[in-house]
Amino acid sequence: MTTISERDASIALPGEPAFEAATQVFNLIAPATPAAAVTVRTVEQIRDALGHARSEGLGVRMHTTGHASATTRPMHDALLIRTLMDGGVEIDAERRVARVPAGTRWGAVVEAAAPYGLTGPHGSSPTVGVVGYLLRGGLSFYGRATGLAVNSVRAVELVTADGEHRRVDAASDPALFWALRGGGGGFGVVTAVEIDLFPVAKVVTGAAYWPAEHAGRLLAAWLAWAPDAPREASTSLRVFNLPPVPEVPPVLAGRPMVCVDGAVLSVGEDATAAEQAAAELLGPLRSVAEPVMDSWATTTLAGVLEAHMEPGDPLPIVGDHMLLGELGADGAAAFLRLLGEGSGSPLLVAGLRQLGGALADSHPSGGALDHLDARYAYSGAGMPMPPTTVEEIREHCAKVRAGLAPWDTGRTVPSFVEEIGQPQRHLDDDQIAAADRVRARVDPDGLFRGDITPNATALL
Ligand SMILES: Cc1cc2nc3c(=O)[nH]c(=O)nc-3n(C[C@H](O)[C@H](O)[C@H](O)COP(=O)(O)OP(=O)(O)OC[C@H]3O[C@@H](n4cnc5c(N)ncnc54)[C@H](O)[C@@H]3O)c2cc1C
Repeated sequence: MTTISERDASIALPGEPAFEAATQVFNLIAPATPAAAVTVRTVEQIRDALGHARSEGLGVRMHTTGHASATTRPMHDALLIRTLMDGGVEIDAERRVARVPAGTRWGAVVEAAAPYGLTGPHGSSPTVGVVGYLLRGGLSFYGRATGLAVNSVRAVELVTADGEHRRVDAASDPALFWALRGGGGGFGVVTAVEIDLFPVAKVVTGAAYWPAEHAGRLLAAWLAWAPDAPREASTSLRVFNLPPVPEVPPVLAGRPMVCVDGAVLSVGEDATAAEQAAAELLGPLRSVAEPVMDSWATTTLAGVLEAHMEPGDPLPIVGDHMLLGELGADGAAAFLRLLGEGSGSPLLVAGLRQLGGALADSHPSGGALDHLDARYAYSGAGMPMPPTTVEEIREHCAKVRAGLAPWDTGRTVPSFVEEIGQPQRHLDDDQIAAADRVRARVDPDGLFRGDITPNATALL
């Protein structure tokens, strides 16, 4: 059994308040249950934690917000380090770069950058942690304009297994820098990242909702627009079955709904480009039927984080994810048969995130994962609340997976993976071998091995 030595006073064991704080997760289905846990704020504390793990014969795992707790390997034989590093977000407006300490959530980066007319490649929620999102690819609501979010990383600061605090960039250690960017983890404890920001002249964002009876025509219109849409636009189409609870606007609750949301931005001087692109998307959709709720409008940079209406508080979530190819009429029909009105789907939400644009472009100096060869990122999730059970949700996820198999690319985005057990693949065999060579160099004893995402290593 693990014991605490004098030196490791900040290491907490199950049942202690500091353990509860360090092991908080977002997905209540997957509590973090390590042998011991610690919240660190300094490099020195990380070194102490690594020393403790070694002396106790424990592996080391990392997290920040615990958003991805359902995607991690069991950690009963590990020390979990929660990084909440000191210092705030630093913005260098001239170079358009932000230095972001590990533990920071995207809302804080957007808030710090917005006064300079800059923003970062955030996703749909202000509460997602910057580090975990970037290391796993990061599918941004600006993605079709700016590419996979991980391509914005200029440098990673981390403590490696030998206790060294390194600043890794393309010049200092090209192989480690390559592997850190989407290589599957297991390289060390990240303490900060430096990321490129980009200027935004104007952004139009929002969400429009229709009763599901219009789903067929809305999906057809959205799929007809999506492949050749301007890169300024990144959207999703989702099917909702929301319960009548106080957090849900009554007009959306208790019946299936279809939603199209996203962001359209003007990067350069021409502020009208965003409005024009948004009008091209929304015109045909609004002519199918009048939305029952429609928040699409020109907004602030912070407003983009609110448009998707993501839950802020921890919830029990069970879900699945696939990267899909072109759907066509058959794929659209299959999607609605499995998830639309009358499908009997117990999922609260299931949708397609529009890919292509810059998301499909290889980055000239990109890392292990730098683009996506797929048309749509599917994700679907349910909440086990009486009378719906975990088993029912899993069963339906499997049914959707089988039904959409003809369009499944077999690839996944690590940041979209919902559960450790779902099929996942984001690297080719030669990339996996290259990432493992880096691991063998920087972590020869496999201290961080448990942190590696499935199918990103041949070592486990
Ligand atoms: C409401 C919601 C909305 C989302 N929206 C999007 C979206 O729009 N686009 C998208 O791509 N994804 C999205 N996600 C998924 C999210 O990006 C992933 O769950 C991501 O992994 C979360 O990162 P985190 O640091 O917050 O999570 P954590 O669970 O804290 O970390 C995830 C993993 O990152 C690694 N890690 C974290 N911190 C460190 C560290 N300091 N050092 C080394 N490794 C570390 C570890 O491997 C850890 O297991 C969303 C998730 C939720 C719950």
